[in-house]
Amino acid sequence: MYKYCLDCGWQASSEEGYTEREVSKEAIEHFVETGHTVESLRLPPPTILEN
Ligand SMILES: [Zn+2]
Repeated sequence: MYKYCLDCGWQASSEEGYTEREVSKEAIEHFVETGHTVESLRLPPPTILEN
């Protein structure tokens, strides 16, 4: 579980020691506090392609 914000640099990941419940809770709190759009991914974020 990986969640990130489209409007700022906020993110939370279950790979960083959070449980999935905690990640979801953090995402909801971020949305409530800021009104930002939080997207979620089941997989880690795509790596940036380099030439
Ligand atoms: Zn945000």
